Amino acid sequence: MTVFSPATAADREVRTPLPVLGRDVSVPLVTGGEVTYAALDYAASAPALQRVWDDVAAYAPYYGSVHRGAGYLSQLSTDLFEQSRATVAEFLGCRPDDEVIFTRSTTDSLNLLAAALPAGTQIFVFETEHHASLLPWARGEDARVTWLPAPRTPEQAVAQLDVALHGAPKGPKLVCVTGASNVTGEIWPVRKLAAAAHRHGARIVLDAAQLVPHHAVDIAALDVDWVAFSGHKLYAPFGAGVLAGRPDWLREAEPYLAGGGATRKVTRTADGGLDVVWHEAVAARHEAGSPNVIGAYAIASACRALSEAGFDRLVARERQLLAELREGLAALPEVRVLSLFGADSARVGVLSFVVQGWNSSHFAAALSAEYGIGVRDGLFCAHPLVRTLLDSEPDEPGECGAPDAAPGERSLNAIRVSFGAGT
Ligand code: PLP
Repeated sequence: MTVFSPATAADREVRTPLPVLGRDVSVPLVTGGEVTYAALDYAASAPALQRVWDDVAAYAPYYGSVHRGAGYLSQLSTDLFEQSRATVAEFLGCRPDDEVIFTRSTTDSLNLLAAALPAGTQIFVFETEHHASLLPWARGEDARVTWLPAPRTPEQAVAQLDVALHGAPKGPKLVCVTGASNVTGEIWPVRKLAAAAHRHGARIVLDAAQLVPHHAVDIAALDVDWVAFSGHKLYAPFGAGVLAGRPDWLREAEPYLAGGGATRKVTRTADGGLDVVWHEAVAARHEAGSPNVIGAYAIASACRALSEAGFDRLVARERQLLAELREGLAALPEVRVLSLFGADSARVGVLSFVVQGWNSSHFAAALSAEYGIGVRDGLFCAHPLVRTLLDSEPDEPGECGAPDAAPGERSLNAIRVSFGAGT
């Protein structure tokens, strides 16, 4: 069964907008022989761009401590780290007073923001979110979260938010929404949701983990208050992420991490305690400890590479691949593509499906073992959404990627194919 044919070595130079690492990895097949690995799991972690790797390799011999050393390499690293921040701000179209904080990941960025909320903030979240944007708000004794049910159209999403915010009591409010679903790839109506949030005096944070590798994200044009994303989904290596946006709540909050770099002055008090004066500068305040300078530099390199390649070109290529994939799947009556907003909704290069009569985990394993195609199976860290889409509840809640029911039974998880600039 030919479901999808990624670029072959011969046409790859022509078709691949941006070369990535690992394009020529051969993997053994259970049927004998070897095949070039087809990485179709970009939504989990995209391969790093060759250019990012080259940039990092060129800088690696020179890196040194950041914001602390007097030596030449420390000064150089500090400059490159701060330039990386400026590059990310430009890539995201930040407003002049927006701040860029380097974190470990999208998960870390959203937890940071959750820890920085003014007391009594009411949160509004769709139950369809990835766990990283679903769970950080529900922690703490006085968490006040309104869970919005899964909308079936983008217009319904805006209307639901409007109604929920209209009826909310006074006080600080935050809406958290994903830009593109990691399950269906569907693009959410971010600009309209931001307008609804602001109409009711709420702020909005965009989980751009799946949007930013596929689309230009302009924080000012979308009029969102914060954006969070991860380097490893943006063709940079693991370990670094970004939270960018409004400074005020972050400036007033307790530092996310307590430690060196976040403090102006630490003194012992007469009664034997400690007096700590924290940094008011937002990035310093929340980036305690030695930062991941290589990770930040790699993210900036990816931002430059994507901007230079041009998102129009990348989007056009992805649409073509998506159309080919959908056409191939549509020819198979056993396959059901998962969708919240309907077949015609705008998507990035992420698509999940189930195959009637197949256990999704076995199907994904077979794609790997028999065809050398690497996809993901499971509930994709968005359990409520995937369960809604499958219209079923497993007997026992499982972690991400929990095994499915036996073959022939109703699917309890799904298969996800995802691709991007290197495909
Ligand atoms: N948000 C979305 C939509 C995601 O797809 C993911 C990861 O899959 C995350 C957040 C969390 O990203 P990370 O694991 O890099 O923190």
